[in-house]
Amino acid sequence: MENIFGSNHFNTIATYLKKEFGCRIIKLSLDAGFICPNRDGSKGIGGCIFCSDDGSGHFASTIPEQIQLLSSKWPSGKYIAYFQSHTNTYAPVNILRKFYEEALAYPNVIGLSIATRPDCLSNEILDLLDELNKKSYLWIELGLQTMHDNTRNRLNCGYSLTDFEEAMRQLKKRNIKTVVHLILGLPWETKKDMLDSVSYVGKLHPFGVKLHLLHVIKNTRLADLYPLEFKTLEKNEYINLVVDALEQLPQDITIHRITGDAPANDLIAPLWSINKRSILNGVQKEFKRRESFQGKYCRE
Ligand code: SF4
Repeated sequence: MENIFGSNHFNTIATYLKKEFGCRIIKLSLDAGFICPNRDGSKGIGGCIFCSDDGSGHFASTIPEQIQLLSSKWPSGKYIAYFQSHTNTYAPVNILRKFYEEALAYPNVIGLSIATRPDCLSNEILDLLDELNKKSYLWIELGLQTMHDNTRNRLNCGYSLTDFEEAMRQLKKRNIKTVVHLILGLPWETKKDMLDSVSYVGKLHPFGVKLHLLHVIKNTRLADLYPLEFKTLEKNEYINLVVDALEQLPQDITIHRITGDAPANDLIAPLWSINKRSILNGVQKEFKRRESFQGKYCRE
């Protein structure tokens, strides 16, 4: 196995998309006003314990207005409309179609990224995604967080590993790309538990992976448990864990994130994570120190 990523050391989605499309591709994060079934009672109540989402679902402007506003910051790029907030397949299929098609109709929007829960993909919705996948560049972002159901139950996520595997199977059957989210530093998990989740995802071979650092955010149930029930990761510990994780992922899996994005005002811990640049630099430095790269220890 050799380092095919040069000084990047891993397969960043930005570099991958630039090669694929020959220009810079920018993700525009949108809020379509969807809500979450883990808050309204249909799948659960209270939401995942780490999520500060209030489920208000209010949005001030239409999708084209949001795109226009965001894309004016990067006028020369092409865009992927990223349906990020809440659960973006949790609505009647005609409403979903309207939002997705509205986004795709905007000039220079070449595709969609849709974040959702594994248990919110009915056959009707899968058919719509199948149709969109044939005419645009599409990927679906699925929250897994951990492969361990006992941890997920304590996080109150309301879906199981079986739900996730079924969602992956249905999306794969339709040739739809997937990006899997994992959280590193979850309470009740050892380093081995976390790396087992990474290796499990590597074997499923999604299009992409997002690694999140666990943040303790104000007004969440996780915040009530902190610091008495668990402690957050130290910076060096996290950097080493990210490098360990990337070393075992196959080289063709694109990496969409290696930190988190918590609003500084709401962040309780770990406060070192506010400086994202220093985490990214730390990861590069550690790869260099180890003379290592994504996939070095991948056993496929
Ligand atoms: S993390 Fe996602 S599924 Fe969990 S409560 Fe928040 S919006 Fe809902």
